[in-house]
Formats: sequence, C-alpha cells, structure tokens
Amino acid sequence: MTSLSDNVRTLHATMELFSHAKRFNERWLADPEFRSILFRNPEQAIADYALPVDSEEVLGIIAGDKDRAGSIARGILAISAMKSSVMDQWYGPESTAADSRIAAWRARQQARMHLELGPFQTKASVRAAWNAELTRGCSGGCWFCNMSAPALSGLAPDDTQDLEAWRGIIRSLKMRLGPAIRTGFLDGATDPFDHPAYEEFCRIVLAEAGFFPTTSTALALRDPDRSRRFFAEAKAAGCWSVRLTVRDQAELAAIHATFTSEELAHVQLNTCTPRSSFVFSLTGRYRDRYLSDSEFAARERRKLAFAPWYTMSRDYRDDDTYPLDANTGVAGFSINLVDRMVSLVAPRPSSDQFPLGFETLDRLAFGDGDEFGNALDTLVERWMPERLRDGDTVMLWQGLRCEPTSGGVRLHGRFRQFTDMVDPDHAADLRMIASWLRHGATVADITQSGAVDAGWGVDVLHRFLDAGLLQEIRSA
Ligand code: SF4
Repeated sequence: MTSLSDNVRTLHATMELFSHAKRFNERWLADPEFRSILFRNPEQAIADYALPVDSEEVLGIIAGDKDRAGSIARGILAISAMKSSVMDQWYGPESTAADSRIAAWRARQQARMHLELGPFQTKASVRAAWNAELTRGCSGGCWFCNMSAPALSGLAPDDTQDLEAWRGIIRSLKMRLGPAIRTGFLDGATDPFDHPAYEEFCRIVLAEAGFFPTTSTALALRDPDRSRRFFAEAKAAGCWSVRLTVRDQAELAAIHATFTSEELAHVQLNTCTPRSSFVFSLTGRYRDRYLSDSEFAARERRKLAFAPWYTMSRDYRDDDTYPLDANTGVAGFSINLVDRMVSLVAPRPSSDQFPLGFETLDRLAFGDGDEFGNALDTLVERWMPERLRDGDTVMLWQGLRCEPTSGGVRLHGRFRQFTDMVDPDHAADLRMIASWLRHGATVADITQSGAVDAGWGVDVLHRFLDAGLLQEIRSA
C-alpha cells in the first residue's frame, strides 16, 4: 500500500499539474453569473476572468463532452479521486486511537452518525479526535458561520513557557490517541490566522506528533505575504489540506487576483458564496438564516437537486428533512487555549437544543500539560468505560424506531439507515431488552431481573452500546 506521505505528495503533484482546471472549477462552482456568460460567450468569459484554460476544452465542458473537455475534466476528476484516497487513509482505520476506550467511544459515535445523520454526512465527515482553538472568538464575521463564532476577544499567550505547555498538551494527546492524533486541527469557532503565532503552534505539532495540522482560513487576504509563506511551509511539511474560505464574489475575485493559480495549486478554495452550489451544514448562523427566511431556505434546498450524492441515493428519497444538519468536525476532545478548558464533544443533528450540531458532554479546566493529561483521563473514565457497570443507566437515544424481526429487533434511524440486533436462539429475549432500553433502565435492572441470563444480558447490552444505539453513559 502507498504510504500516507507518498499519497499526499501525489495529491499535491496532481493539484499542481491541473492548477488551471482547479481555478476554472473554483469559478464555475462559486459564480452563476460566470456560468451564464460562459454559455453565451465562452471566449469572452475566459478573457474577462483571466482563466488559464484552453478554449476548446471549455467548449467541451459546455457541451458536456468529457473527451473534448480534456485536461479540465481529467484534472477535476483526478484531484477529487486523489483527495478521497488521502482522506480515507488519513482519517480511516489506520488512525484508530491507541487507548482502546477512546477508540471504542469514537467507533460508537461513527455508528450513531450513520443512523442519525445518514450515509453521506458520515462518510464525508472528518470526525477529528481533537481540535484546539488558539483564540476566543473570531474576526472573520462570515455570514454563514456554522459555529456562530462570537467576535474575537482573546489570544492564547505564546511566550516560551506557554509554548512549552502546548508541547506538553500535544504529548498528552499523542500518548492517548496514538495515530488518531493526526486527525486533529487548530481551529473551531476561530480562524487560525487571527493568531500571530499560529505557525509556531503548528511547528510544535509537527515536531511532537509528526504531522502538520490541516488548516482552513477565511483571512488569507489580510496578509498575502504571510499566506504565501504559510502555503509553502505547509506543503513542504506534508500538510494534506490547506483551505481558503471564500465568502462572496468580490472575495473570490480578490483571491484570484492576489494569488496565481500556481501559488494556490495545493490550496483548496471552499466557495461559501451565497450563490455558490455549495450545500451548507444546517448549523450556527446558516441555520438561523435558514429558519427565519423561507425564500432563502427554498433556494438553498434547490441546490440539492444538483448534488449527486443526494439525488442518486435511494437513502434520501422520500425524506424531506435537510440532509446535512450536524457539525461533524470533531468527535472527541475540544480544547480552548485562551480559557484553558477541554470539552468532550459529539456530533448531533442540529436542533434548538444543539444549534451548532454537536453536543458538549463535559468540560474541564486545566493549567499545564500534566493537568491537561489528567483532565483527559477524567473524561475517559467518566464517559468511556471499558465495561458497563450495574448502576449505569442504559437507554436508546431518542429518534430510533424499534421493529421486531424473526431473529431479534431492527433499529431504524434516519435516511433508511438501520441496525439489526440478531440472536435466533434468544430472539424474544432480545426484543424484551430492546423494550427495556426504549424506556431506560439500569444494567442491574435488566441483568438481575431473572428474565434473562445475566451474562448473556450484559453481552447484549455491550452489543447495543458498541452499535451506537445507546445514549451516552456518564459514570457517577
Ligand atoms: S466560519 Fe470560521 S472564519 Fe468565519 S466567522 Fe466562523 S469561525 Fe470565523
């Protein structure tokens, strides 16, 4: 199998080879006006937007003729395929947490995401084991901010002692997460470039954990020289993803005017312009707008008609709920270095209770790296027990629908996702346990009831837990 670093190098090389196709695609996705000019007068559109592309290939794009579209079509497909391959390797089974309790908890979150959020959002999710915010709040002010970030009000201190504490934090994470540490990033309800020493924090992650954090910023234009230096450093360090958030058409034009297609070759543009074809996550400020402006909501829903993962999947057919409604960036530890707090967070469908699309299960303060390690251990002991205990309350999470089957019970989630719990020799007992779990009971209530064999009952409860069917369990 190709090594992860070789795969990242191939991704960068592919993006560089097809940087012209990438730039064309950025404009195509972000700008409906460009698309209409293109269809009316391709030569004029290429000249007006200074696109480094071949007009014959653009005519192929317009005609929907893949062969004629040549390197543009090949480039867009090749970049997309390489990106998926790197993502599978970076975030897949090779990045399982070293601590088996954390690994099991994260696997449960993923199983639950399948049932609760549907197949596309689960597959597309980064589901990082941790993130760290270097500021309190953000100066970005993005119209759609999925985290509803408040205004910038504080920076993490970065003198020698603070950077040493950061080193300790990364070591504590690495000890517990092992390879899963590379799923983390230094972002949240923040923008990395708000912190003047962001690069230094990244270098410490590289030195201690062996990877350069993925980076997403809406502030690349604030200091283009800093951005250029950062793009080069991130690429040289093997960072697989640097992304720029583009908030409106004017910003896209300014980014394209400031940075050449070569300078942005390995930098992705997230075109979050109001009229882009990007399907947003229904959380934060975007959710506020969606719920309060029916015209806006109808327009956003129409975008789904152009999303193949939505229209071509039977999973989403006949379901009218919005299909991307969680913040799936982190399933694990969320750190804020200004407030010195670490939280345990899990993705959830957005609601009035969880408007940001995740649930904060717990939150602890820490000082230095050692205290941070102790806080992680407390969170693991509280929320990620190796074995269920007699006093634990076990209950299916709300929204699951139980259906009896000949072998046991089927648990239905959203978007046609389901999990079968099967034991042909004890099908009736399995159904009885499911019925207990619908209303909630302690482990002892079930295993000491005399209605089921105690050992078998505990094993079954673990199967429900591992399958992501139970509400989170907090030890007393
Ligand atoms: S989307 Fe990111 S950069 Fe924009 S306001 Fe929110 S946290 Fe800041």
